[in-house]
Amino acid sequence: MVLDGMLNTICQRRSPSLELLTCLSVRSAVPAQCGFAGRTVLNILHVAVVVGASGLCAASPLLAEGVGVAPTVFRATQGEIVEIVLSVSDRSTTVTGTWRGTNVPFFSLSDSTTMVGLVGADLASKLGKDALNVTMTSPQGTETRRFFIEVVDASFPVQRLTLPNNMVDLDVAILKRVRKEAKHLRSIFAHTRVPRAWTDSFVAPLDGKISGAFGRRRFINGQKKNPHTGEDISAPQGAQVQASNRGIVRLATEQFFSGKSILIDHGLGLFTMYFHLSEMLVNEGDTVDRGAVIGLVGSTGRATGPHLHWGARLNNARVDPYELIRMNVGSSRTNVRAQ
Ligand SMILES: [Zn+2]
Repeated sequence: MVLDGMLNTICQRRSPSLELLTCLSVRSAVPAQCGFAGRTVLNILHVAVVVGASGLCAASPLLAEGVGVAPTVFRATQGEIVEIVLSVSDRSTTVTGTWRGTNVPFFSLSDSTTMVGLVGADLASKLGKDALNVTMTSPQGTETRRFFIEVVDASFPVQRLTLPNNMVDLDVAILKRVRKEAKHLRSIFAHTRVPRAWTDSFVAPLDGKISGAFGRRRFINGQKKNPHTGEDISAPQGAQVQASNRGIVRLATEQFFSGKSILIDHGLGLFTMYFHLSEMLVNEGDTVDRGAVIGLVGSTGRATGPHLHWGARLNNARVDPYELIRMNVGSSRTNVRAQ
């Protein structure tokens, strides 16, 4: 199989706010296209690179394995999402990927030759570089490409709290409940059931001051606790919370730590979570549209006051939910086709 038979270009798109886009043309028959309007593409031999105002280069070195040069390395800070855009030559090509033993699902855009894969770097992801293996299958056959994703330290702040022991040590019954709830969540994350449910950009669940607490490492009474897995948004009691995007409600129940909690499955292993609600206005199994009011802000569970804890998971990686908005996931193409 000729290695460059199917793959035309590969790109990494990062936060538009960083104006940072890299794109590698493996095959020069088609000019490098990243599918994003308004971008300037510089063609340098077979390598096309777009570097924005930051002047940084996300893929370094920008070269592809299989054509006699070093492999492409995509870089992600802990908690970030990497979006990989492939341009394939055959409309019937299907693409799958694996990174660190996790499937990386790809979906096609409306032109059927642009494939997008999303990889989440967990907030506690091990640092360093590991291979991203991408398999492309078309009537011509199957070929595999190897790239790399390098995870960089986010240096999340450390929070040390001192609390009375009776507020920290859980009794046996509560510990049992907490473990049962955690097990249930794990089973939901392990069984994403739907194909991609969204066709438009993600939106914030409400307007409010963002605490910047995502990823914070917590120590209570000197004991290391779970890091803060979402972002806290200040809002008054009773403020409306909207679904960040279309999906299926997989959890709408009260839990010990997170209080009244809603979890939406957007497909392709992507979930968003809404915690500490005062009211839940949807039921498990409901399909909700982007912007639908799903609940009201509260302080149920372990919360010091009314706020929304908004979280996101991408194939089990705990990622910053605002990455979904910053990256404009699914929105930069006006006619995205859901699979
Ligand atoms: Zn929180």
